[in-house]
Amino acid sequence: MNTLTTQSSDAPLPWASGPYSIKRHGVSITNCDSEPVQTPGCIQAHGAMLVLRLSDLTILQVSENSEELLGETPEALAGQNVAKAVGAKGAARLREVIDGEPIERNSLYAFTLPARGTAGALDVCVHTVDGVAVVEGEATGRGEEGAAVDYFRGVKAAVRRMQVGHGLREFCQRVVGEVRALTGLDRVMIYRFHADQHGEVFAEAKRDDLAPWLGLHYPESDIPRPAREVFKQSWIRPLPNAAGRLVEMVPLANPDTGRPLNMMHCALRGASVMYSEYLANMGVAASLTMPILRDGELWGLIACHHDTPTHFPYQMRAACEFLAQVATLQLKSAEQSEQLMYRLRLEGVHQQLVAKAAQDADLMALTDRQPSLFDAMDAGGAALYHLDRWWCAGNTPEPAQLDALAEWLNKRPDFASATRPVFVTDSLPRDYPAAADFAKVASGVLAVPLSRARHDMIVWFRPETIQSVNWGGNPNDKPLVAGPHGPRLTPRRSFEIFTESVRQRSLPWLNVEVDSALRLRLLVMELVVSRAERLGALNADLTRSNDELDAFAYVASHDLKEPLRGIHRYAHQLLESAQALDEDNRKRVEGLMRLTVRMDSLLDSLLHFSRVGRTTLELDEVDLNEVVQEALEMVGARRNDGTFTVNVPRPLPSMRCDRVRVREIFSNLLSNASKYSALESANIEVGYLAQEENAPRPNAPAESAGHTILFVRDSGIGIEPRHFEQIFRMFKRLHGRDEYGGGVGAGLTIVQKLVQRHGGRVWVDSAVGAGSTFYFTLPGQETSAPA
Ligand code: ADP
Repeated sequence: MNTLTTQSSDAPLPWASGPYSIKRHGVSITNCDSEPVQTPGCIQAHGAMLVLRLSDLTILQVSENSEELLGETPEALAGQNVAKAVGAKGAARLREVIDGEPIERNSLYAFTLPARGTAGALDVCVHTVDGVAVVEGEATGRGEEGAAVDYFRGVKAAVRRMQVGHGLREFCQRVVGEVRALTGLDRVMIYRFHADQHGEVFAEAKRDDLAPWLGLHYPESDIPRPAREVFKQSWIRPLPNAAGRLVEMVPLANPDTGRPLNMMHCALRGASVMYSEYLANMGVAASLTMPILRDGELWGLIACHHDTPTHFPYQMRAACEFLAQVATLQLKSAEQSEQLMYRLRLEGVHQQLVAKAAQDADLMALTDRQPSLFDAMDAGGAALYHLDRWWCAGNTPEPAQLDALAEWLNKRPDFASATRPVFVTDSLPRDYPAAADFAKVASGVLAVPLSRARHDMIVWFRPETIQSVNWGGNPNDKPLVAGPHGPRLTPRRSFEIFTESVRQRSLPWLNVEVDSALRLRLLVMELVVSRAERLGALNADLTRSNDELDAFAYVASHDLKEPLRGIHRYAHQLLESAQALDEDNRKRVEGLMRLTVRMDSLLDSLLHFSRVGRTTLELDEVDLNEVVQEALEMVGARRNDGTFTVNVPRPLPSMRCDRVRVREIFSNLLSNASKYSALESANIEVGYLAQEENAPRPNAPAESAGHTILFVRDSGIGIEPRHFEQIFRMFKRLHGRDEYGGGVGAGLTIVQKLVQRHGGRVWVDSAVGAGSTFYFTLPGQETSAPA
């Protein structure tokens, strides 16, 4: 029969017609927020209470258990001077304290009353409130003269050890350690309220055999609003026996004023049924609670639990109260040092990220390394929009959802702000309903724009609170427990109420986090700007050196061409006067003329090469067989001996390419193939692999796929794999200057540049002693393969 006690909120409250008494009225879950917790009409039965008129110390109200503790019935005490209850000495001491001490709303120990009833000696405390004096007597828990524990020494040492310096969590951990050492209670926790008022066990010291509650979160409704108000006003709330009896005040209202007693500052104040039942549901028999305030607001509680009913002597309570006040005073600086540490950690990681991005000249380093954007910030995931796509780390919405969100963000005015361009929320679906679809991973969003023009941005995501925290009241791990007053505030019920209140919300973002996101934005933008500047400078340098190269090439070729033309002219004149030459010499002069022509075209290609990166190619339909033939002539002429054979096993295709440049590619490769040979003669093969041909393509880069691959293969000395990359570098030679026919080490660099200008790739496959094959592509230019 697990029905909840319900009561519609507009029904009259059961105590509307007279003073309230917990014992008579109790409360239900629907009216617990209106329970008059300040005037409960009842006290805990382990102590006795007297309410006195201030002027003459006449007893106005008495707790109904007075006979047990003071030896007189309420009827016998009503209207009498307080001396009747505490003796003449006690009455005189009370007068002294009331007149001489600051006891308004502040209970002070007055004296110890020797045993009068059956409960032994009583520690008597007194305070004033609303024009009456409230006297509370509680069993001392020790013999009449029994030595008190020296709480003062304990507190002094504790305060020294509680010095701040290690951040909030460490500080709180110290506080619970000290309180537990002082009280010897089973479990001492710091219970911290979050901005949305739900609570978390933030620090804990406990008996070894108890299950830890550290890190568990509890819904706001676990500590109802009136209870929080009470905690703001009184420094300590002792409940030595939560299941203990309650006794009523007699009469319930002050006969002088007709008003119930304000028990806000009474140690004996009766606990609401809701609270004692809640403790019972958690298996707690005794509790002692102190508030921790921040700027006058309730920041958290020091909550102590004991598994068996116990006794909280006055001095122990005073010591705890004092520690709670010290904690309150130190809290702010502990919080500040915690924030400082978080800020330093954030900044540290962000700087590291930016340094990496600078080193790689690539913003992707922000998301694809350790640490990444989302390691620094306490978030579930992060996404970077850059180069027209998303780079994600951790848990983020899908790219399509990210696109839509970015479009929405880019229209927001706060995103365009000149001073703080940032969008931050802990409940995205409230502002942007489409976010309901991905509220689980991204109820919270912190976003900063990086560039308006390209819409680059960084976005951090925080999951729905319910997904990210450990719920102390999770219905999955606790059965529904019915308390003695029915199934009221059990952990499970309050959890259900709570889940509704935090749906589609995340834990809020801290100012530190928002500031740090904005600073990261500046760092990244600075990086982008300085990269643009550097690129600009490099470009300028490059243009300058290209111009110089052009000038050099022009001058060199121009100056060389002039004498070359002269040689050509003389050779021509020699041929004209043919009768002066015999047959052999005539052939030599003809060869000389061919050479001058080729040299002329070489000079032209030098000139072209200087412009190769910037001028357009002269594309033509070219028969590669002819080109190879021309290249061979150039190479053969250069070598002036015939010690190599070139085999072209099948005719090469025709291609659309720049004839002069492709000839230069071949002449360079053929020249190397003939030079780097261990033998007197070299065997060279020139061939190709058609696009669709099924043949091995060793070392082929991915970009070569789907293109005709041309190759020049030799049976020469070979190259070690570790040099495969280096040989393409300008002026890189693997041999002495004059070995293997000499050379300057520029040939392969030129080949690479020419191939790249055609959009192709060049690479090598070789083994030492087994020869080398140089492959290259001229993509997009294949026009016909020979039949
Ligand atoms: P150069 O031939 O003028 O030295 P290259 O740029 O053409 O300059 O070649 C660079 C280096 O690569 C050469 O010095 C040589 O060590 C090596 N190399 C090039 N082609 C071959 C080949 N076919 N066989 C072996 N080594 C070669």
